[in-house]
Amino acid sequence: MEANRYYDEDFNEFIKELIDTQRLNDSKEEGIAKKVIDDGFDSLSDKQKFVFENAISHYVYDECSRCGLEIPWCEMSGAEDNGKMCSWCAQLSKND
Ligand SMILES: [Zn+2]
Repeated sequence: MEANRYYDEDFNEFIKELIDTQRLNDSKEEGIAKKVIDDGFDSLSDKQKFVFENAISHYVYDECSRCGLEIPWCEMSGAEDNGKMCSWCAQLSKND
């Protein structure tokens, strides 16, 4: 994962979703995630960044398993359910 993607506009939405659906392990991870939403990834200490990246890594896919393009954050939680594909490929593969 390239760190610059943490500054995408829809990254916060993705983090919010992880919190809302209680996918983070504990209150520590949740607290750090909320800090990212409020103050940005840059506000974290190195240690917090490590915990945060580790926490979200289970839900983040760099690229679509079918077309190889970057999966946008807004499609990330959906990608988990449809074979790590972007929504476009998920749609196409249904028609295969
Ligand atoms: Zn794709």
